[in-house]
Amino acid sequence: MSLSQPRKLIDSFGRVHNSLRISVTDRCNIRCFYCMPAGDVEFLPKEHLLTFEEIERLVRIGVTLGIDRVRLTGGEPLVRRDLSVLVQKLSAIEGIRDIGLTTNGVLLADQAQDLWDAGLRRLNVSLDALDPEVFRKVTRRDGYEKVLEGIEEARRVGFSPIKLNAVSVRGLTEDQIVPFGQLARDTDTVIRFIEFMPLDADSQWQRDKVLFAHEIIDRLTAAFGSLVPVDQVDQEASPSDDVPSSKQPALLPQHSHSPSQDFVFADGRGRIGFIASVSRPFCQSCNRFRVTAEGKLRNCLFSLEETDVKSLLRTGADDESIAQAMLECVAAKKEGHEINTARFLQPARPMYSIGG
Ligand code: SAM
Ligand code: SF4
Repeated sequence: MSLSQPRKLIDSFGRVHNSLRISVTDRCNIRCFYCMPAGDVEFLPKEHLLTFEEIERLVRIGVTLGIDRVRLTGGEPLVRRDLSVLVQKLSAIEGIRDIGLTTNGVLLADQAQDLWDAGLRRLNVSLDALDPEVFRKVTRRDGYEKVLEGIEEARRVGFSPIKLNAVSVRGLTEDQIVPFGQLARDTDTVIRFIEFMPLDADSQWQRDKVLFAHEIIDRLTAAFGSLVPVDQVDQEASPSDDVPSSKQPALLPQHSHSPSQDFVFADGRGRIGFIASVSRPFCQSCNRFRVTAEGKLRNCLFSLEETDVKSLLRTGADDESIAQAMLECVAAKKEGHEINTARFLQPARPMYSIGG
């Protein structure tokens, strides 16, 4: 079959995949306890990482199979040298409609302008606390001020709205919920609370450490009034006088494949999303697959199998063989993760080495 024939990355449950998450490194400059080990980490040698040219080729082949969205992640993507060069290469690929980046923000202030100039427009910054002490407890490093500077600079160069991802952990981040709610109400920042998932390196995850979306909703509504699902909000309404309407994230529609279920406060201010992977799995509408920094295709965060595409890229395989590897990887996707069952097996790779 030739590459020019339209084929889709479709699994046996009929889910069509158009979104590829690309890990550009397994390295990171902080050590979030839910992701990285506390002790020494052995990172991949540089020569094992896919080069920018290899990533570009993979994406070009993906486009022929229906990929039109990519997100760069890691590890911390901004520790990969010259990341904006990769963004530029990917922006130039015809058929790619959307490039996003997920970062911890520590190095963002220095790179925001270059990333913007290279064509990046969607930015998610991970920040679990608005309190430097709690930040330190989670990340086991300093850097809180740098993240805030990074967000400010990103806003200055034009990123809007900026989404903040906050992992919620019982006994640790409860007190951050209301300040985050306030931030969402006062600015165009979208806050997305993520339930803690069993992907940490030290196997510390326990169900009772997950601060569930419904508990967060209860705290937010107690503080600010009820939350309304975004898809039930009148898109013509002008929810807040404090933020210019061109920058009203509350007015943006809910994306049907987004893992985040988004809400706005009933008074129209503040957009809050919930990525409730544990309490409300969204596997049914999943449209994404992944490639790790060393070129392993994974059809799910939780998958126990992977496809080695780097060896294909480095042994002269033609585009068709690589396309076939992608198609087979996606076709083999399981119906869903099994976190809520006794069958669940945590993957050997922790989050930083998969690419979240
Ligand atoms: N270093 C970048 C960052 O932190 O944004 C990108 C990679 S990080 C693995 C991607 C996202 O995964 C972050 O938002 C992070 O908070 C989230 N994450 C990591 N481990 C997680 C876990 N065990 N449960 C839920 N989310 C997790
Ligand atoms: Fe680093 Fe991101 Fe993992 Fe935190 S979540 S340790 S910032 S890769």
